[in-house]
Amino acid sequence: MFNLITAVTRLTKKSLNPKNLSFSSGLLISILTVIITNSLILVKPKLVQGQTIPVTASWRQASFPVENFQAYTSGFGYRVHPVTGSRQFHQGLDLAAPLGSYVRSWWSGQVVGLSDHTACGTMIKIQSGNWTHIYCHLMGTVENTDRGTVLVDRSGGVVLWQGQNVPAGARIGRVGMTGRTTGPHLHWGLMYNGNYVNPADVLRQMFAQKI
Ligand SMILES: [Zn+2]
Repeated sequence: MFNLITAVTRLTKKSLNPKNLSFSSGLLISILTVIITNSLILVKPKLVQGQTIPVTASWRQASFPVENFQAYTSGFGYRVHPVTGSRQFHQGLDLAAPLGSYVRSWWSGQVVGLSDHTACGTMIKIQSGNWTHIYCHLMGTVENTDRGTVLVDRSGGVVLWQGQNVPAGARIGRVGMTGRTTGPHLHWGLMYNGNYVNPADVLRQMFAQKI
């Protein structure tokens, strides 16, 4: 709870602080570039940004997705990638936390995807109705066994099977350094009906209902 309050307070301050709105010609050019690029990108239906989050009757069931949260290190939207140096769309929110911090399922749902050895690192994808939540750069590996696909993080006590149902707030993995990352953080992605949405908008709604 405190974790969530701190997290959302930081989120709100960061986005509303007028100091962050100081203009320079460089910034203006970047904004114009973003606007122009975005208008081109709209032809791709999967890359909807700034999409209105559907109002859910209650967000009280939802869990903040990581323990020992420290800071938001990268928001949703266009950025210069810290590793590749190229400009691309960041389809999630990065939440820094110490290595080994537990990751919690944002909502109850079914594990529909487990993978490793991609830029996302060890990854979990959970489906909850129209929502899909994605967790990247976790510890552990994904193994294919005769009984199915499983994420195993032995020292963290995590064994998560594809197809398994998890309750909201369940510890599903730990913050690691797998995949393309410069420091320990959870990359958290959210999709609604197959379209990426800004997880920060959802956190704000969760926070609004918890006070
Ligand atoms: Zn990320």
